[in-house]
This record gives sequence, structure tokens and C-alpha cells, in this order.
Amino acid sequence: MNDVIDESLKICYDVARCLKAEFQNQVMAINDNTIIEFSKKNNRLIHSSKNSMSGCQAFYTHTTPHRIIIKQNVLRGREGWLGANWYALDPKKVNDRKKLFGPLKNWKGPKLVGIIALVELICHEFAHHQTKGHGHGFKVKYARFWDFMVSQILSGKFIIPPQEVEQLKKALEEIKA
Ligand SMILES: [Zn+2]
Repeated sequence: MNDVIDESLKICYDVARCLKAEFQNQVMAINDNTIIEFSKKNNRLIHSSKNSMSGCQAFYTHTTPHRIIIKQNVLRGREGWLGANWYALDPKKVNDRKKLFGPLKNWKGPKLVGIIALVELICHEFAHHQTKGHGHGFKVKYARFWDFMVSQILSGKFIIPPQEVEQLKKALEEIKA
């Protein structure tokens, strides 16, 4: 079902262009091969030392031209977790994360499913541009991108299904102090 993958990539591009329109120079150049799935056919474009997706959902290539490589399963399943608390400069929920966010070890925030998971993923990966690891600069940028996309969604400028808007509100509620 490559249709799902293609549709997911298209959504990722919509989010990326939305960020680019607002933040311009803070966002990397976007072209047809900027956001791609991890696959053999994209080997030539991936030009990274990574030859497997070992444990990660997606990654940003620090070499130019910068790209975002996304695991096919993620594009198919559209599942992730909200990093807004985990990557906050001042996390509101620091204790007992497992209890808060679920039984899986790698859940560090409320689970997100659907277009909203792709929105979060793109905010995360694009925040790696011109920043180091998941350090201070990344955190500032990620929060800026995510908060902007949340405002676009809640104001109806970036459209996601109504049940996903509810999911988003619930997730935001969950990471409040
Ligand atoms: Zn990251």
C-alpha cells in the first residue's frame, strides 16, 4: 500500500511548507527530495552513514542537501508520541513518565495517531536543522514549530480531522503541570 506512504509524505510536505512560510530562514530548503521514506530506491539520496533505521522513527541528514528520512512503518501507521514535554526547556511532568504516558519504554509523551503524529514528527525533524542533538537550541526550535502548528490547527488554518483535534487537545492537557 504505497498510496498511504505517498499520502503521508504529502502531508509531511504540507507541514514543512507551512513552517517554511512562517519561519523562512529557520527552515531548511524544501524540494522534491527533501522528505523521503527510508528505502533501497532512495539509497542514493540518503547519503548517510546510516544503513538501517535502528530504533529511530526518522532522521535529519546534517550534510547538504539536508533531508528528512522517515521509516516506512511510520508513514504507514502514523503513530508517534508528543515530545512537547520531554523536549521542553522546563518540563512540567518529570516524575514517573512511564505511568503517565504508557507502558512502553520509549514513550516519553502522550501517544499521537494520525495526521497529528506526522505534524509532530516534522516539527521535530525540522528543528534539527542548524541545532545540535536534542540540546537547548533544538528544544527552543521544536517548541516554536510545534506551538505554531498547534495554533494553526486550533484556529482551523491547518486542517486535520475533528477527532484528531480532540486527540491533540487531550494530549496537550496531559502534559500540563
Ligand atoms: Zn531528534
